[in-house]
Amino acid sequence: MTDSCIFCKLINKEIPANIVFEDDNLFAFHDIAPQAPTHFLVIPKKHIVDIDHTSAEDKALLGEILYRATEIARSLGLNKEGFRIVNNMGLLGGQTVFHLHFHVLGGRQMKWPPG
Ligand code: AMP
Ligand code: ZN
Repeated sequence: MTDSCIFCKLINKEIPANIVFEDDNLFAFHDIAPQAPTHFLVIPKKHIVDIDHTSAEDKALLGEILYRATEIARSLGLNKEGFRIVNNMGLLGGQTVFHLHFHVLGGRQMKWPPG
């Protein structure tokens, strides 16, 4: 937890989130500015700045995030037509919130490259 981190505040229920999943390690919630009909974020409860700040001890956690992101996508029916999982890292990656998160987007045709 860092005091200034908006995602830590969501985890600690200091500010409201539209939660889709929560367990001891993970927190998932709908994005406040959705870029697709369905757009949610899966984050670790542990404050990690970005994917470049993970280490060997986070291997299982990273697996959990991808597994859970897929399970939630399936529970919302996104698997029927397809969906996208995205991680933005750093300035060129387009990261704006510096607490590790994976986007899950579905419900519209995605483009490649994303731009
Ligand atoms: P990124 O640009 O990859 O760092 O993505 C950060 C995402 O967090 C953006 O899609 C924002 O819309 C989203 N976001 C920021 N604040 C909130 C919030 N309070 N609740 C839900 N999503 C948020
Ligand atoms: Zn945080």
